[in-house]
Amino acid sequence: MVSRVIPVDPFDLIIFGGTGDLARRKILPALFRRYCAGQIPQEARIIGAARRTQDADAYRAFVADAIKEFTTPRHCEDGTLDGFLSCLDYVAVDALGDAGWQELSAKITGDRVRAYYFSVGPRLFGPLAKRTKAHGMVNDQTRIVVEKPFGHDLDSAKALNATLADHFQESQIYRIDHYLGKETVQNLMAVRFGNMLFEPLWNSQYVDHIQITVAESVGVGGRGEYYDRAGAMRDMMQNHLMQLLCLIAMEPPAKFDPDAVRDEKLKVIRALDPVEPHHIVRGQYLARDGEAEEHPSYREAVGNPRSTTESYIALRTQISNWRWAGTPFYLRTGKRLKARSSVINVMFKDAPHSIFGADAGRHANVLSIRLQPNEGITLKVTIKEPGQGGMRLVDVPLDMSFAEALGPEGQDPPDAYERLIMDVVRGNQTLFMRGDEVEAAWAWTDPVIAGWEARGDVPKPYESGSTGPGDAELLIKRDGRHWQGINP
Ligand code: NAD
Repeated sequence: MVSRVIPVDPFDLIIFGGTGDLARRKILPALFRRYCAGQIPQEARIIGAARRTQDADAYRAFVADAIKEFTTPRHCEDGTLDGFLSCLDYVAVDALGDAGWQELSAKITGDRVRAYYFSVGPRLFGPLAKRTKAHGMVNDQTRIVVEKPFGHDLDSAKALNATLADHFQESQIYRIDHYLGKETVQNLMAVRFGNMLFEPLWNSQYVDHIQITVAESVGVGGRGEYYDRAGAMRDMMQNHLMQLLCLIAMEPPAKFDPDAVRDEKLKVIRALDPVEPHHIVRGQYLARDGEAEEHPSYREAVGNPRSTTESYIALRTQISNWRWAGTPFYLRTGKRLKARSSVINVMFKDAPHSIFGADAGRHANVLSIRLQPNEGITLKVTIKEPGQGGMRLVDVPLDMSFAEALGPEGQDPPDAYERLIMDVVRGNQTLFMRGDEVEAAWAWTDPVIAGWEARGDVPKPYESGSTGPGDAELLIKRDGRHWQGINP
């Protein structure tokens, strides 16, 4: 398969927070990989803007180190890195004061796309937006990119939206949820809306229920302090799992256009039922025997021995609309689970009548869409068990790995940040969350959290490396169903 890279026009990208962890690990390596792929022209300017006082050469050395650390060697061909570094510049600015702004604005000239990446904490969004505007750095091709978390609850999300709206139009605001930039997440739309096969069956008449699992094998790592204030509900469920739910459940948009897609996603969120208290299970991981030093328990990892924040959540919800009325959606996500695995399982109903008699057992089709690792699709189909002895049925997988099916290009798709940053430059908002979408997601999330806080609910312990707390099994078993395995 031939690689199709369409170069973008020269642009200015200003990374506020250009010396931070996110810039170092994700943004700058992603830009470098796009440069290597021939998508970023030599005339592009990438300007790091952060508190640290240093000159452009020191910044280039910092970026070179980041690229060496976070990209694979084959991306670092001789000469390419120097070419990329020559696109870079640096200005020390203070988001909360006047220092550096004149120097920065003097560098940003010309009639080209200007993207301001706010890779800083949300408290700086307002001050940065205000100063960017006040220093005349905004033209009609200006975009701003803001990182998650977008708010801590509905009120804070509304306040952030209002702050940004004081200075920028919604069409200029790109709220990143990097999950949406993953190749396989976009494939959800291709699979659903590019194939006649699935769509006629994609409703409560044929689908028994849907399971969405985003399991991580790692713990909270160095993010303990932030994570303990957020928990799995805010950190994963409100954004990543909600986005997956939207893509799997939404109506076909009239076209693949940013607002058409986002309108349909918003309708799903607004049709979500409130979650009943007995449909929520929260958990907190324990250290495994003998591993406490290397892999501490959640409470140790966050340094809060009385923490009641969840590192795991499973819940059941429903979508009150014509397509999905009565179909449960089971969602679960957690840290330190058995394997790193993100998968959506569409569990079809049994055939209405078995011509093979009761002895043939139950055999429902399952469509599994694997988002990571080993991205691909498996369809479980029922066939006859070979040999004599009557009509015995057996379920076998029709298994497709995208990497195998697509060849070399499928094995090395651009990562989420590469795709999303290029979408910002091209002005395509399809894979970014709109303000009303974020607010609707918080409006659904807030009462769930308020409910368990009012009840004084304490997360159930679960052992690291397991599939989560036992109660999560009961959550689905009570309905006569079971979770699909969490497999690497
Ligand atoms: P960080 O603390 O490593 O870096 C913060 C950056 O902001 C630094 O470059 C610093 O110089 C700059 N900064 C701070 N105060 C400033 C000021 N007054 N004026 C100018 N610059 C200032 O943070 P990070 O981990 O890079 O995260 C940045 C944002 O991205 C945060 O909102 C975070 O929640 C979000 N985020 C980070 C990650 C990640 O993997 N690190 C992932 C998702 C989202």
